[in-house]
Amino acid sequence: MLAVRNIFKTFFLVELLKGLRLTFRNLFAPKITIQYPEEKTPQSPRFRGLHAQRRYANGEERCIACKLCEAVCPALAITIESDVADDGTRRTTRYDIDLFKCIYCGFCEEACPVDAIVETRIHEYHMEMRGENIMTKDKLLAIGDKYEAMIAADKAADARYR
Ligand code: SF4
Ligand code: SF4
Repeated sequence: MLAVRNIFKTFFLVELLKGLRLTFRNLFAPKITIQYPEEKTPQSPRFRGLHAQRRYANGEERCIACKLCEAVCPALAITIESDVADDGTRRTTRYDIDLFKCIYCGFCEEACPVDAIVETRIHEYHMEMRGENIMTKDKLLAIGDKYEAMIAADKAADARYR
């Protein structure tokens, strides 16, 4: 019986007609192709892109050099060195993220008790020179300063989902 059914399907090109039906069904459907980079699709506030270090509103660094992010990072992408600052607080003297090692898992952001290290929605970046894959503390703070409004809005939106 199965053999007869297969012969019937082959003779009447049933599979081909099924494929054509799918093609014609989508022929007049609205197109979802967008003209990137002029047009962009919406992004989740939880998108995990380029990292940033944040400051408080008074300009003080949030990071307290607790090294939780370094400990939790599964890719060993974070390197931290710390010391006691002049005001007695513990601060990082070195905070590097190797973007070639990073797998953008977001664990560092989850682990941070003071929302210092975050992953922004920035995903359009590239490297041209050797060493540009290392995001130093200064580079991370500069990104944080530049995009603080977006980061704060994303954090607030994310909190509403939890
Ligand atoms: S996103 Fe994940 S892999 Fe990248 S630095 Fe953070 S913890 Fe490490
Ligand atoms: S970024 Fe956050 S988790 Fe990492 S050392 Fe600083 S305070 Fe600790």
